[in-house]
Amino acid sequence: MARADDIQPISPLGMTLEAYQQRCAEEGVGPGRALEAYKAVFREGATHSAPAKVTLPEIIKRHEEPVNEGVTIKFVQRLLNPDHRLSHRGIDFDDIESVIIPMLGRSGKKTHTLCVSSQVGCAMGCDFCETAQMGLIRSLSASEIVAQWHAARFIEGIEIDNIVFMGMGEPLDNLDEVFKAIACLTDRYGAGIPMANITISTVGRIDGLKRIKHQVQQEGWKRLGLALSLNASNDEVRSQLMPINNKWNMQELQDILLQLREVRGGRKIMIEYVLIPGVNNDPTHADELAAWMKPFLKDPTREKAKGHTGLLNVIPYNPRRDSPWPAPTEQQVEAFIDRLYSHGIFVNRRRTKGRDTMAACGQLGTAEIRKRAFVPLNTPK
Ligand code: SF4
Repeated sequence: MARADDIQPISPLGMTLEAYQQRCAEEGVGPGRALEAYKAVFREGATHSAPAKVTLPEIIKRHEEPVNEGVTIKFVQRLLNPDHRLSHRGIDFDDIESVIIPMLGRSGKKTHTLCVSSQVGCAMGCDFCETAQMGLIRSLSASEIVAQWHAARFIEGIEIDNIVFMGMGEPLDNLDEVFKAIACLTDRYGAGIPMANITISTVGRIDGLKRIKHQVQQEGWKRLGLALSLNASNDEVRSQLMPINNKWNMQELQDILLQLREVRGGRKIMIEYVLIPGVNNDPTHADELAAWMKPFLKDPTREKAKGHTGLLNVIPYNPRRDSPWPAPTEQQVEAFIDRLYSHGIFVNRRRTKGRDTMAACGQLGTAEIRKRAFVPLNTPK
């Protein structure tokens, strides 16, 4: 066996313990030593415990905003760009953003949710979204995704209870690395975050949702959380807001989500609806949305199952930079929600946290990076 100190360091970020032990074995390092190093990195925040060495991206910006539950923290990490297509313009880094959001549970217990980015920018081109304005620069590796958790946990020093893939990027556009990152974050010898506390949020790439359908049938993955960014009540409005809808419409989305409900044992799917005044907040929109949600009200295959299997989150729009639309008024939000209630739809009203620091949903993306986008906004293939 080689001495752990004598070999080239190997970072475990983005790896399960099993994968790390295999990689270490290739260098002649035994499984016991690999386990110690793995635990040191994920449980104690060590950045150097031979053979493990972790080089964390520098945090170049940080904003705090007090909210009722505590403080929302947005931090920006600067990554070296492995793709040198932009080097001739003197750009050899990428900035990515993550947000730590305090929450109060029903029992009054305070928890923290980390919103991670899966890409630098995004190719999906959703009209209401700040990140969309950047276009896609590149996808992140599993290691870069897990580094966001490491920074939140050990640089910010905050115990992270939940992780949501709702930051920059469409996670289903980078699913191999997202799956690897989740396998790492849920490894019980490392970060040990329960699978049920991790949520992937998508705009509805059906090809990716089919892969998730397969993945959640693998051991340990059944409880993976899922959220859909719906944002419209009919195809006409949705296609205007979200180009992805030209490829896969709302009926196809409903079909695959109902299949996912089956294989996930009736677990709830979160349906996100960003309420934009003058775009998707008419009473008729609420009526159409209620009709689309109806199949999620009760799982017909599970007689005893209680409650809805689709949970609707209404999120007041946070105006992006240069937005053509304002935020909705309190009255508009209440009128829309009341109309949904009248159809028997349970609605969770998501309060905006971090609007002032541009850290709220759909607002990730820095002005500096936006100028650099080189992959055009497009309709998904
Ligand atoms: S809402 Fe999500 S998928 Fe749409 S452009 Fe923004 S980051 Fe991409």
